[in-house]
Amino acid sequence: MITLKEALKLSKDELAKFKEELKTNIEANADINAYIDVHNVGEGVPIAIKDNIQVKEWSVTSGSNILQGYIAPYNATVIEKMLGAGLSAFGRTNMDEFAMGSTTESSFYGKTLNPHNKDCVPGGSSGGSAAAVAAGLAIAALGSDTGGSIRQPASFCGIVGMKPTYGRVSRYGLGAYASSLDQIGPMTQNVEDAAILYDIISGHDEKDSTSANKNDKVSDKLNASRKLRIAVLPKHIQNASEDVKKAYELAVNALKNAGHEIVEAELMDAKFDISAYYITATAEATTNLARYDGIRYGNRVVGKDLNDTFIQTRSQGFGDEVKRRILLGNFVLSSGYYEAYYVKAQKTRHLIKEQYEKIFENVDLILSPVAPTTANKFGELSTPMEMYLSDLYTISVNLAGLPAISVPVSKSSEGMPIGLQLIANAYEEQTLFDGALSLEREINYSR
Ligand code: GLN
Repeated sequence: MITLKEALKLSKDELAKFKEELKTNIEANADINAYIDVHNVGEGVPIAIKDNIQVKEWSVTSGSNILQGYIAPYNATVIEKMLGAGLSAFGRTNMDEFAMGSTTESSFYGKTLNPHNKDCVPGGSSGGSAAAVAAGLAIAALGSDTGGSIRQPASFCGIVGMKPTYGRVSRYGLGAYASSLDQIGPMTQNVEDAAILYDIISGHDEKDSTSANKNDKVSDKLNASRKLRIAVLPKHIQNASEDVKKAYELAVNALKNAGHEIVEAELMDAKFDISAYYITATAEATTNLARYDGIRYGNRVVGKDLNDTFIQTRSQGFGDEVKRRILLGNFVLSSGYYEAYYVKAQKTRHLIKEQYEKIFENVDLILSPVAPTTANKFGELSTPMEMYLSDLYTISVNLAGLPAISVPVSKSSEGMPIGLQLIANAYEEQTLFDGALSLEREINYSR
């Protein structure tokens, strides 16, 4: 597959021809179920779009039954920016319902297969976007990351996935999961393409009140030979599988070889991250999903009165995982538990942010696993709790609002990809991409 950088040089005619071939290729690989459907908006380079990003006149459903029949009346800011930069929205990709999950199995449209082994999950929730890029069915894609949903599927599928600093990329037109954690970001074949796509979609947007007033760009200043100070986490990685630990060692050596200084640091026990995240995310999700009542959007199941219509619509429209989180979110926000759970989670979140601030006083980047294992087989995570626990390496980054990038580093003995992430201080995307490019070059991962 050609890279985004190469594709940006194609003529209009070449692009039109390329898109025809791409469409045929997507149809031939329909079993992967990376795409829900393929429509094209714009004349530019085709980019696959996660099903929770508004593209005008598309059916956009966040992978849910409750949004069947909803047609987006406007473009998300990221789509407007893409169209203005010579890209087009091409196909919407599968995802866990409302971005809640780590496997893409909770989608209304059925599961997506991992192109490296079709018995394995592609990761999630942006599993469709990751599988599309990994299978050569997309030049690049957009995903969203609330607690790892860009980085973890990127790691499982052997591609690059980047989560920007909170506020760098407008959330206007992103179907909200947890508004204080969500960011849209690029999923690409390599680091340079991620930087190019990040540059295109980032920047201040007055339509998003949490958008940062920053517009600096990174891709034309990429510098892989900058020498950085990078923290490794000897204690933290003990929770990872042997394969992941080996990949970590490989990456540490590669970074040393590239001339970076390696220092040791520690993060607090990940059990605090997981508690703070699942309380915060479900609380916000409960509020965000209250709007799906069958009156204003999508599917409606008519009951015997208005209240019954709400109940029937939501009971039939939401899947099990979403219902579980609505219950959890309402519980932690209810009077009597609000102080004990929600407020405590916010305090913990503050501590998590502070621990990162302290580490970044001395280092430029942190190297961390993305997931404790490679992609699991379908049905292998048998309880929701197991799935939540597998988020231990990604969620603190969202709680602290930091930028991070997952870069493919090696493969397990079974040939499954292993990505590792670099984490930078807030708004230090340039440093993040410089370090990632250096790691990518030194590792020379073959897809
Ligand atoms: N796996 C995490 C969750 O289920 C993260 C999902 C995401 O980033 N959207 O909440």
